[in-house]
Amino acid sequence: MAKNYDRFETKVIHEGYNSVDYQDSLAPPLYQTSTFTFKDAQQGERRFAGEEAGYIYSRLGNPTVSILEERMAALENGEGALAFGSGMAAVSAVLLSLTKANDHILCSQGVYGCTFGLLNLMEEKYNITHDFSAMESAEEIRNSIKPETVCIYVETPINPTMKLIDLEMVASIAKEKGIPVIVDNTFSSPYLQKPLDLGCDIIIHSATKYICGHGDVIAGIVAGKKDLMDHIRMTTQKDIGGVISPFDAWLLLRGLKTLPVRMDRHCENAEKIAAFLKEQPGVDKLYYPGDPDNPNYETMKKQMSKPGGLIAFTLKGTKETAQRFMNELKLIKIAVSLGDAETLIQHPATMTHAVVPEASREKMGITDTLLRVSVGLEAWEDIRDDIMQALNKVQ
Ligand code: PLP
Repeated sequence: MAKNYDRFETKVIHEGYNSVDYQDSLAPPLYQTSTFTFKDAQQGERRFAGEEAGYIYSRLGNPTVSILEERMAALENGEGALAFGSGMAAVSAVLLSLTKANDHILCSQGVYGCTFGLLNLMEEKYNITHDFSAMESAEEIRNSIKPETVCIYVETPINPTMKLIDLEMVASIAKEKGIPVIVDNTFSSPYLQKPLDLGCDIIIHSATKYICGHGDVIAGIVAGKKDLMDHIRMTTQKDIGGVISPFDAWLLLRGLKTLPVRMDRHCENAEKIAAFLKEQPGVDKLYYPGDPDNPNYETMKKQMSKPGGLIAFTLKGTKETAQRFMNELKLIKIAVSLGDAETLIQHPATMTHAVVPEASREKMGITDTLLRVSVGLEAWEDIRDDIMQALNKVQ
């Protein structure tokens, strides 16, 4: 795959697309088609046999989707990328492509609720087992790897507690064992963190979030080495079929152009809101990797260019206090998802992580007063004022 530009800010706009090849259209065209016509039966035969390049059917490939995949591969410094109809379609395609019955997956202690659900489903149906590890030391990771472990699955920052895992450390142990490391890079976007550069093998995005940035698409991305991408494309992507629609790929290409500008603003606003929250007497704990008192601060500086736009915090009080606080907010919207222009707040224990049993939630640090905020692009003072008035009402 040709890489034309070195700088991220240029890649998000130009990589994978040359207007000369598309009737000089400045914006990439939307190929809103399910299938492609062959000039004759023999051409169809050659394309199916892989003897001639060209499109066949949009579940197997589509020109608009290809531009997105090429651009995402370039942004993650991968050899290839695949686009999916949701982040979960991406997670399931990756995990099902790498495992078979009786295998074992080692996971970070804390994953997105539906990823947790998928891991349980794979265990129930196929005896593909999993264990969670805090992954705080090399020894702990080594001790958690079993003979039947076929991959390591990591979220960092972990949803929703913002705990970080040292990706270089995980990747070096996985190399010793000859198994791949998969990283859910949703919370950082490739602008803030590039796990492939740190030795990991596959990255996954819920592209619904920062990649899209506008709250109007559900999509997923996978990127990594060409052989792994080819394997996933020809197995779980093709045959389970969770592909992205061309229109959603087109919207992601549009959203991507402003990713660095948006991320800078998300990070800037989050830093100010986190500093404000830290000073509030009604706030019990703050979980923000950019906080110098955060135990993962050094890891953040090592592997992320900035701490990101997500903050979690606990309120003093009970679940009712947390819910009353949410209900008092006016500008900030109560919604799951993240990475949008709008500031969003959610209550993980009853929303994104409600499927996780209470005992596991506790291990993940998801208490009843924990709230997660995706800091948006509004004037930060307006976000602060909204939080302040709601805090005043519940204290
Ligand atoms: N991974 C993370 C970290 C997420 O937060 C989410 C969704 O919130 C997903 C994966 C799943 O993505 P999607 O909702 O696009 O299927």
